[in-house]
Amino acid sequence: MRIDILDYSGFCGGVYRALYLLDKTIAQNSGKTIYLLGPIVHNKVVNDRYTKMGVEIIKTKDLDWLKDGDIVIISAHGIPNSLREKMKRFKVIDTTCPFVLKNQIKIKESLYDEIIFIGKKRHSETIASCLDDNRIKIIESLDDLKGFSSSNDGIVFNQTTFNIEKLEEIQREIKKLAPNYKIVNTMCETQIKIQNFLKEVNPKYNCLIIVGDKDSNNAMSLYEISPYRKTHFVSNLEDVKNIKIMDYDDIIIMGSASTPKELLKEIRQYIKNNAVKHQKV
Ligand code: SF4
Repeated sequence: MRIDILDYSGFCGGVYRALYLLDKTIAQNSGKTIYLLGPIVHNKVVNDRYTKMGVEIIKTKDLDWLKDGDIVIISAHGIPNSLREKMKRFKVIDTTCPFVLKNQIKIKESLYDEIIFIGKKRHSETIASCLDDNRIKIIESLDDLKGFSSSNDGIVFNQTTFNIEKLEEIQREIKKLAPNYKIVNTMCETQIKIQNFLKEVNPKYNCLIIVGDKDSNNAMSLYEISPYRKTHFVSNLEDVKNIKIMDYDDIIIMGSASTPKELLKEIRQYIKNNAVKHQKV
């Protein structure tokens, strides 16, 4: 059996940066509690590693009981501007990915009265980018455009990790329903590169395993656009054990932008070991 890991798998620059800032904060504040406002990135393996080190993952409502000067980390997905104001009494380490932040600034500074944001409604990046701005209509799918039309000027932004195919489909529909809206593509460069790579890759392997969290939009986008005949989505080694690996002659693995390389290697080794075991029987 051939088994390999696809190029571009694993942490993107934004995730590396967020983890670097968190590691540095932990190293510089020995003995102090570090509060993480939501998961640092959408990956349970990564977050578990930090909670084991004593980092406390908190929700927005928990900020009320923190003391002035406590150390609070903002995750790579960012936070709404109104919350940023409330956090001035803490020592804040902001790990918001620069692509996400750039997007938030563009939206905030936009002069249009009508704004559409194409993104997953419950994703933390969407909430961070849209919560404070009542000009914004969030569109997650074509269904959300039912009954919508406008002859006014407006502008369209999107979540940095949205599925490119779905994004273009929604953008085309908006252009028909609101011809004066300006469409600005705010996908992050890394995601454009990875999704185009996966779409165009020659699916010479029988099976693709996408490794990521269900909460991770970039992982779900990879799963949705996969050109492979058979694609499985897994979050950990336990999930891999449910795949009948001997149904395939070859398997390729791809990790999302928030999946640690160690997990990909662990999964590759597990498949290798089990394929050999079966061949020996
Ligand atoms: S996928 Fe893009 S937007 Fe998301 S953290 Fe990575 S670089 Fe930033």
